[in-house]
Amino acid sequence: MFRLLQILLLLLGGWIIWFFLRQWYVSSFTDEPIEESSLPPSLPEKMVRCATCGVHLPEGEAIHSGEATFCCQAHQNAARHGEGKPY
Ligand SMILES: [Zn+2]
Repeated sequence: MFRLLQILLLLLGGWIIWFFLRQWYVSSFTDEPIEESSLPPSLPEKMVRCATCGVHLPEGEAIHSGEATFCCQAHQNAARHGEGKPY
């Protein structure tokens, strides 16, 4: 019988800890300014412009060719062959 009470007390204690941790977790997020929470979760990557079509894309997704950056392989090839408008 005491064993059962111990288990129940342990469960109750665990629930109380979980409850307060959750309260703290929720309040720590609602206390943030609205401007910050409306921003995307991760900071935006540095944007670069495709030298052929002028589209902006994250630097990590761009194709680098010397000083120039391109949005895709086709535009890199186009620039190499002198096609497309240089931006
Ligand atoms: Zn492009």
